[in-house]
Amino acid sequence: MKIGILALQGDFELHGRMLSTLSVDADYIRKPDQLNSCHGLIIPGGESTTLIKLMRGAGLFEAISSFAKDKPVFGTCAGLIVLATDLINYNLDTLGLIDLSVERNAYGRQLDSFIDSIEIRIDGKTDFFEGVFIRAPKIVAIGESVKVLGTHGDDMVLAESEQVFVASFHPELTDDVRIHQYFVDKIRKSR
Ligand code: GLN
Repeated sequence: MKIGILALQGDFELHGRMLSTLSVDADYIRKPDQLNSCHGLIIPGGESTTLIKLMRGAGLFEAISSFAKDKPVFGTCAGLIVLATDLINYNLDTLGLIDLSVERNAYGRQLDSFIDSIEIRIDGKTDFFEGVFIRAPKIVAIGESVKVLGTHGDDMVLAESEQVFVASFHPELTDDVRIHQYFVDKIRKSR
């Protein structure tokens, strides 16, 4: 199995480190044809506006849209914004691959960045995970096709649809590989 990591901007190398811990091959994606050999794709955190501009410039906006028709995609933080159908407080054309509404930079200035325990429910088990939030977006509404897998208080912070998996925090900034492992398993199940 090989997983592509969009490498135009943001903390893509840290996702590479997670995949290498899991002994999964990774490719840093900068051109559309690199996607052909990938079984899944990670869109990292960074700056969503810049990310989308660079994706368009590289021909990757359209390429990722068609890739996601039959292959799983995982977005963290800015990657979540890029994948959402609806960005409520900013005028930006997103990929619209998971039916959820998201608010950008939703935690305000004082709380721009914080670390707190979040509750995750994967594979029928409830557990805790260290949530690293950096100028994080908030998922404010979800469609029927979306299932919530993690919460921080009342906020939804981890969610999935059939093909798309999103986190508003940064699991790649911890040494805990469970979230990446879940994505690897999601790809395995979809093949
Ligand atoms: N604030 C960024 C944005 O709106 C996201 C931050 C992140 O990815 N850590 O795009």
